[in-house]
Amino acid sequence: MNYDVIIVGAGPGGIFSAYELRNSGLKVAVFELGRPLEQRKCPIDGKKIKTCVRCPVCSIMSGFGGAGAFSDGKYNITNQFGGTLYEHIGKQEALDLMRYVDEINLRFGGEGTRLYSTADTKIKRRCLENGLHLLDAQVRHLGTDINYVVLGNLYQELRKTVDFYFNTTITAVSRTDVGYKIHVGETSYTCRYCVLSVGRSGSKWLEGVCDSLNIETKSNRVDIGVRVELPAEIFASLTDELYESKIVYRTQKFEDMVRTFCMNPHGVVVTENTNGIVTVNGHSYEDPSRHTENTNFALLVSKHFSIPFKDSNGYGESIARLSNMLGGGVIVQRFGDLVRGRRSTVARIQESFVTPTLTATPGDLSLVIPKRILDGIIEMIYALDKIAPGTANDDTLLYGVEVKFYNMEVELDSNLETVCKGLYVIGDGSGVTHSLSHASASGVYVARQILNHEYIC
Ligand SMILES: Cc1cc2nc3c(=O)[nH]c(=O)nc-3n(C[C@H](O)[C@H](O)[C@H](O)COP(=O)(O)OP(=O)(O)OC[C@H]3O[C@@H](n4cnc5c(N)ncnc54)[C@H](O)[C@@H]3O)c2cc1C
Repeated sequence: MNYDVIIVGAGPGGIFSAYELRNSGLKVAVFELGRPLEQRKCPIDGKKIKTCVRCPVCSIMSGFGGAGAFSDGKYNITNQFGGTLYEHIGKQEALDLMRYVDEINLRFGGEGTRLYSTADTKIKRRCLENGLHLLDAQVRHLGTDINYVVLGNLYQELRKTVDFYFNTTITAVSRTDVGYKIHVGETSYTCRYCVLSVGRSGSKWLEGVCDSLNIETKSNRVDIGVRVELPAEIFASLTDELYESKIVYRTQKFEDMVRTFCMNPHGVVVTENTNGIVTVNGHSYEDPSRHTENTNFALLVSKHFSIPFKDSNGYGESIARLSNMLGGGVIVQRFGDLVRGRRSTVARIQESFVTPTLTATPGDLSLVIPKRILDGIIEMIYALDKIAPGTANDDTLLYGVEVKFYNMEVELDSNLETVCKGLYVIGDGSGVTHSLSHASASGVYVARQILNHEYIC
């Protein structure tokens, strides 16, 4: 037996599992296909390289810190969104673990960062008066810069007792009489317990592992939409008090749910490369000197397919591919151009009063996003205009497409353990979590299950 516990993936799920196991006396290893934190560099510099060049291993999505390393570091402490961990482990336990993760983040460099809360806010009422619903949450905003510091400090702590293998892709997982064998091409490592924490980028690979081990999976939803960018003043009354507000709107036309997602006051819009497909995302820095004049957030509509077509992610991928085909990557359009039924051009973007923070191709999102989804987004922009006047201005920028891929849901019990005893699936890869706080909490939870485990293979 090489290790007691092998963790695949060094994102928040894997990191917090390793953290909880680090002083247990168990021999623990983490395998990660990406690079160590300090070697993670996206080649986009905004000057020579302005758009995604589709690196074989994406430094934004992979490496120590996982997809969360260059994120805005918003840890939402809530059961209302960010995953359904509470369905497996209970609401109170889920919240307690998210708070525990928050304490660790503070101890490892996040001290002094602000915790925002929706409790007692008057914004809730303003939303309700306009058909909008504000979800309850506490939000710790580390910011991209402090998040990076916390990750760096956590790594220094973990490497004392945990073995890390970077640039190492696990190709397969198989069973042995006493545990599991983790394959890296021709080489293999054995362990008693195995924790798979491969995030969204490892979704396809994980599906193959589940197939090979007869672990049931079911299809999940996909979220499709745009990233909105506007002057920060327009959303200041919300972001100053709440930082991030998760607002849900039911459209009048189709009764579809549209929601805000990942709000970044004074932030930047960025591209994201998932398995070669370029989509849009956003983040912001805690350091005021790195603030921009704009705020960005996503507007998303969920789609879930079941019979006869069940590949929700495939549907989202096709839409993203279409935008990549038409725009060579991400497309940007002024809201005014969209509602007038015309494409944006370089000249129209240049004349806009909102300066884009991402270099994207001016185009026409109505040629990419299905009508029903786009109608919902437009309706929500007008609804938001009532609580944040100016949202529906002509110069508001829409970037597309933003797609949130969710992993298929892996069949797990209340220990987050598969039917194969000793094999756990956590984080976004499990389909159970979709956020930093839930993924991290699931990591701590599983580590504690392993530590309490009575059964020895
Ligand atoms: C730009 C961006 C901004 C975001 N901002 C926020 C935010 O502010 N707040 C929030 O809550 N969430 C945010 N998210 C989402 C958040 O990052 C994820 O929910 C979180 O990282 C999930 O953690 P995880 O450990 O499950 O997976 P991941 O972070 O995806 O980590 C999985 C790791 O596994 C590795 N891996 C995959 N397959 C293999 C394999 N076969 N062998 C070895 N290694 C493998 C990957 O390289 C990756 O490093 C953001 C995401 C992005 C991309």
